[in-house]
Amino acid sequence: MEAVLSREQRPWVVLLDPGCFAAWSGAAGVAKVENVAVEAPPTRTTVTGVQAPKADEQTIRPDAKLLFVTGAGWTKKQADGAVHGAEAEALILGFLRATKSSLGGSKSLVDASGEGEAVLGFMTHLNQIGQTGSTPRHRKGLSTCCHGEEPHVVGWRFVNERRAINLDANCGWARGKADVLYVADAFEVMHHVNRLLGA
Ligand SMILES: Cc1cc2nc3c(=O)[nH]c(=O)nc-3n(C[C@H](O)[C@H](O)[C@H](O)COP(=O)(O)OP(=O)(O)OC[C@H]3O[C@@H](n4cnc5c(N)ncnc54)[C@H](O)[C@@H]3O)c2cc1C
Repeated sequence: MEAVLSREQRPWVVLLDPGCFAAWSGAAGVAKVENVAVEAPPTRTTVTGVQAPKADEQTIRPDAKLLFVTGAGWTKKQADGAVHGAEAEALILGFLRATKSSLGGSKSLVDASGEGEAVLGFMTHLNQIGQTGSTPRHRKGLSTCCHGEEPHVVGWRFVNERRAINLDANCGWARGKADVLYVADAFEVMHHVNRLLGA
């Protein structure tokens, strides 16, 4: 739509609510459509490249049967005093590929990934569950190496069947936030589970 405004002072356009004046009852006018060639001004935006998450590894699956949540514990020093990032990646991806579960993460874990630490490469902020993350609607959830603090667990409010694996028998999940808490080493448990799944 094009308009020609000749007034120099405001208001240039006045909008009236219907009913303020009687509706136009004269003959309909004739609109003449005219093509106007437009020359776009030069753009100031320069494309320097494209950054996108790895398209080959889909981890967020709203229709999955299980929400598999990973916490910062996967990237912390373990009983032998060492960090096992590569092993954690292999275990988590193995489980996801075998079960087609959806991957969630705690804030601590996704923040660490975003800060470029040598941790789970496939984890992004889109995976974060919780108060400042997402609130997925999977029926079942399994939390691993995640403490189960309130800002995280509020993101689980639609997940009805909840289990967690944590070394700490006093973690948040133990305080009524999970139906079952396995007090165990998630590395060991997931090794065993993946073996059963043939992953
Ligand atoms: C305003 C605000 C908003 C927040 N929003 C969010 C949010 O949206 N989502 C969110 O997640 N957090 C949120 N947080 C942060 C939240 O309070 C916690 O700090 C965070 O969830 C902790 O993440 P974590 O449990 O993964 O890490 P940690 O607290 O470091 O816990 C790691 C856990 O891993 C366990 N562990 C370590 N090794 C093993 C092993 N081998 N096997 C089993 N268990 C192991 C440890 O026992 C520990 O319990 C928010 C905080 C604030 C203040």
